[in-house]
Amino acid sequence: MPPKRTNDGFVVPALPKRFRAESAMPASRETSPATLRPRASSVSRAHPVNDKRLVPEESWKYGRNKFGAENTHLIVFETPGNQLFARVYSLCNKIYWRCMGCRRLDNKATRAEFINENLYVPVPTFHRCRPKRYDEIREEQLKLERKFAAACAIDE
Ligand SMILES: [Zn+2]
Repeated sequence: MPPKRTNDGFVVPALPKRFRAESAMPASRETSPATLRPRASSVSRAHPVNDKRLVPEESWKYGRNKFGAENTHLIVFETPGNQLFARVYSLCNKIYWRCMGCRRLDNKATRAEFINENLYVPVPTFHRCRPKRYDEIREEQLKLERKFAAACAIDE
């Protein structure tokens, strides 16, 4: 359609049908950057949050709890390559791992988690507890092992 002209011959500027209505409207949920990012709950699954560290496979081991159940404790060496100090995480409700030292101090923030079979634990600054000497932990574990291995032997 040719532009309208007044009787004087001036071009009447045509108003757009919808005066930039699209850009004035808020971005839709699908395209807004906020919703393109994964939700907070999925972030910790795919990429561990930066308050956790990856524990090398040789820097942690399973342990027993005081009832002798195997694989209910995680013994995690504080410094990779050094077996002097460790922190112990216990399995709670068969779902998550919680730092035992912090549990005693009522600090709920320190959980360990497995992501794709890799173990991640909170960095030291998130702990309110102090790491324990590994020789004490090992001594305790050996006692439990002897006690419960003996119990099993009697059962048989
Ligand atoms: Zn702790």
